[in-house]
This record gives sequence, structure tokens and C-alpha cells, in this order.
Amino acid sequence: MADLEKYLKKIHDLSYEKNVPLSGYTTWRVGGPADFFVVVKSKKALFELVKIVVDGSVPFFVIGNGSNLLVSDAGFRGVVARLGGDLAKVLCGDDEIFAGGGVLLSHVIVEAARSGLSGLEFAFGIPGTVGGGVMTNAGAFSGCLSDVLLYVRALDLKGSEKTYERFEKRYRHPLIPSDEIVIEASFRMRKASTEEVEKKLDEIRKSRKKTQPWGMATAGSVFKNPEEAPAGRLIEECGLKGMRLGNAKVSEIHANFIINTGGARASEIYDLIQLIRSSVMKKFGIALEREIQLVGFPVEGES
Ligand SMILES: Cc1cc2nc3c(=O)[nH]c(=O)nc-3n(C[C@H](O)[C@H](O)[C@H](O)COP(=O)(O)OP(=O)(O)OC[C@H]3O[C@@H](n4cnc5c(N)ncnc54)[C@H](O)[C@@H]3O)c2cc1C
Repeated sequence: MADLEKYLKKIHDLSYEKNVPLSGYTTWRVGGPADFFVVVKSKKALFELVKIVVDGSVPFFVIGNGSNLLVSDAGFRGVVARLGGDLAKVLCGDDEIFAGGGVLLSHVIVEAARSGLSGLEFAFGIPGTVGGGVMTNAGAFSGCLSDVLLYVRALDLKGSEKTYERFEKRYRHPLIPSDEIVIEASFRMRKASTEEVEKKLDEIRKSRKKTQPWGMATAGSVFKNPEEAPAGRLIEECGLKGMRLGNAKVSEIHANFIINTGGARASEIYDLIQLIRSSVMKKFGIALEREIQLVGFPVEGES
């Protein structure tokens, strides 16, 4: 770790800062500092970075838009990398769209609409990146990324580039090995008029505004929906809507969302998550599984 900065300085297309609060990079607006926050702007730079962190056994984590993460108040001891530059570009083809792992899905969808390409509208309003979406098989409105992906290019920790073309449709589950980095993806699209695509986007926007806390500091659904019933309904039936721990609160609009009402600590959100799990277990005998991922917590499993 001592030499890390020396190595980082040598990589072109990479910028870094030290002791960066991750609260600025998560939609929950919580999370302590990362020792190093790195923005990687080319494939070559990413390959070099991976070699350095693997050779030096430096803890390493790729962050997308931080919209599915609870980062601890202590932060992350190691390197947090974000993909930018060449790794966050979008290119529209005739019936296909190519997107870097670091680009926001919303940006891909807006570009698609502009180019008269339909197929990804279901993902409108999911505030994640292509990489984060591939790692969670992001989905909504009966669609998910595995339905429309043509290929994913990824980098493994040994420094090999891989291409994946077959994806198992699993609910909120990584579509490629979870220790690999999504460099690029391509989506199957079809020609449509811009007006047609925008009309669908508008309907989705309205539906989300009605059913979810819009514009608040959240990480979307905290728990996966178990087979028995939607997690939100189970939580609501435990009487937990509006439940507060410090500045963390169960949304009154959608009980599977926890809101940071301002200045919440990650520990308050974490404790509220535990309280919800134990309440649902007690009332229904159902073990809710987290959809959001924990970063920088001592034990990264369910407790
Ligand atoms: C208001 C709101 C609404 C939401 N609605 C939905 C919804 O309808 N459907 C849904 O599925 N989700 C929803 N989410 C959750 C979230 O947006 C998705 O899970 C999203 O796919 C996460 O993407 P991200 O870029 O923010 O990833 P992050 O949260 O930054 O990271 C998630 C995981 O992906 C990994 N990762 C990120 N980028 C890469 C990469 N390039 N290579 C390898 N690994 C990577 C991270 O290491 C981490 O393990 C919602 C969230 C919010 C805040």
C-alpha cells in the first residue's frame, strides 16, 4: 500500500484522490472515506490498475453510481475505482447499442431515444450504470438486462479480457462472475420513432413517481422480493412504514425503500435493515434477503 501512490501516478488516463468520502458517490448519501478514489478512463489504464492492486493485494472495489450500496461510516480501506472516459461512452448502431461499463443506463436510454432505438425503456429510472446493471441484472416493468444483452466484455483479475454472450435470467443476480469488471456491453434494440420511445419513458416516469419516493436519498429496494409476497407489502404489514432510526426512515410511499432524511449515518440505515428483517421473520417466518450490497462492513453477510 505504501508504494501504491507511486504506481498510480505512472498510469496514464487515470486520476486519483486520497481520503474521499464515499457519501458523495452513493445515492443514499452515506459512507465514509475510501483511501484512494480512482477514476479510470481507458481499458489500458484499467488493466494496469488491476495488475497493481492484485500484485499488491490491495483491497479493490469498482463503484458504479453507488445506487445499490450501503457503505459503512468507516469507509473502505483500499482502492475504489470508477469507470469514466472511454469506458463510459455510448455508440448507437442500427439495431444495437454499445455502452461502456461506466455509463449511466439513463444516458444510454436517452441516446437510444434520440437515435430512434427501442428496447431498454423498462430500465428508465434505474439510477445505475451499465456495469452495476450487469452485476445486479437490473430490471423493472417486467424487463431485465439479461433479456436485451447481446454481449458483455469484462476484465478478470488475472488481466484477461473475456466476452460473454449467454446470460441466465436470474433475479437481481450478477450476469457474469462477480469478481470481474464490466468494460463494455451491447444491447439488442429495434427501430422505433423517437416519439414512441419518449411516450413509453414518460409513462414509466409517471408510474415511478406515483409508487416510489422520487428524488429522495435512497438505494431503491432494500430487499429482494421473496416468493411469498413483495417485500414492501410484508414490511408494511409489520407496521413499519414511517419507522425511524435517527435520520433513516422507512418510506411511507414504498416500505421497501429506506430514506436518508438528511445526515443519516450508515449505521442507522444498517440497524433499520436489521430491525425490518427481524420483524418480518417474527411475523411471517420469512428471511428477507438484501438486494443492496454492503461495503466496508466488518462482516459482509447477513447477521
Ligand atoms: C430510486 C432508485 C430506484 C431503483 N430502482 C431499481 C429498479 O427498478 N430495478 C433495479 O434492478 N434496481 C433499482 N435500483 C437499484 C440500483 O439502481 C441498481 O441495482 C443498479 O443496477 C446499480 O447500479 P450502480 O451503477 O449504481 O451500481 P453500484 O451500486 O455502484 O454497484 C453495485 C454492484 O455492481 C458492481 N459494479 C458496478 N460497476 C461495475 C463494473 N463496471 N464492473 C463490475 N462491477 C461493477 C459494484 O462493485 C457492486 O457490487 C434503484 C435504486 C434507486 C436509488
